[in-house]
Amino acid sequence: MNFSDELVQWYNENKRDLPWRNTTDAYIIWLSEVILQQTRVEQGLPYFYRFLENYPDVTRFANASEDEILKLWQGLGYYSRGRNMLKTARIVQEHFNGKFPQAYDQLIKLKGIGEYTAAAIASFSANEAKAVVDGNVYRVIARYFGISEPINSTAGKKIFQATANDLLNKKMPAVHNQAMMEFGAMLCKPKNPACGTCPVKEGCYAFINNAAAALPVKLNKVKIRERFFNYFLYTDGGSILMNKRDESDIWANMYDLPLIETSSLLPLDELLALPETAAYFGNSLKISGNVMVKKHLLTHQHLHVRFITLSQQPIKIKEGWVFIKVEKAKKTALPKVIFIFLDNFLN
Ligand code: SF4
Repeated sequence: MNFSDELVQWYNENKRDLPWRNTTDAYIIWLSEVILQQTRVEQGLPYFYRFLENYPDVTRFANASEDEILKLWQGLGYYSRGRNMLKTARIVQEHFNGKFPQAYDQLIKLKGIGEYTAAAIASFSANEAKAVVDGNVYRVIARYFGISEPINSTAGKKIFQATANDLLNKKMPAVHNQAMMEFGAMLCKPKNPACGTCPVKEGCYAFINNAAAALPVKLNKVKIRERFFNYFLYTDGGSILMNKRDESDIWANMYDLPLIETSSLLPLDELLALPETAAYFGNSLKISGNVMVKKHLLTHQHLHVRFITLSQQPIKIKEGWVFIKVEKAKKTALPKVIFIFLDNFLN
């Protein structure tokens, strides 16, 4: 048996029963693929079911408002992906008569669909012979063939895509691709791969050379930015003072709370003495609570978040701040860290 046959046989005996594997509907496959780019299967499943229940077809998705989509997306992060989904759904509705395309060359032109997602949808929905290369596939190929070229270098991407193309079983690309990904997720795992029970261990470079922990190689390009967010919660009884974020930063166009960002974690008295704080809240700010949320981790940023609850007092309303009724705020798409804090506060 060749490499693909071995993996397909393993897949047929060991695969998880996941809902998007029992369909060739390109819309449903697209939903699952975009959601799973954000999260692990167990965490992604409830989101997948919620989206499918609310928007069983692309037409209903295209007719949703951005806020409705972001509310369902809440907690997945990378909110631009939710927005891109809506743009794509509307393009499909308008230019493809509401029928989600299956061809790679059409899919790759849609918003938010890259090479991986286009190959996944094309192969799973129409058996088009396109090899998928996701994180699982990178890992399997790097270890089995002993490729130490970084997976996020330009040269590395070409080598891995070419190797995946060579391996692809062109008679059954859908099953082959599923098998590669499932094998990486379940057996050739990032930590502690199950090499002892692996059906291809005899030919595996990493197994023979005890090198699984060192492969794949990834260039550490991402510099993490530390940010310090001081949020002020001010309510007038039935409404919460909220801040509409601009487009140039994380959580674009979403609502959070009045915010003063500092370059380090300041003691509370120093924060309250800042000219910016005094400009909006006066010099004798009355606070009723000071809650530290240690860290909220985004991919490229670590947010150190603090919530300061204000007592009733006169304040100056900055441009972009707006009172929102509590019931409406609960239904608005909010960054997860804000949603959790408000949810606790309001309950
Ligand atoms: Fe992965 Fe280990 Fe199998 Fe090699 S032997 S493919 S490292 S699980």
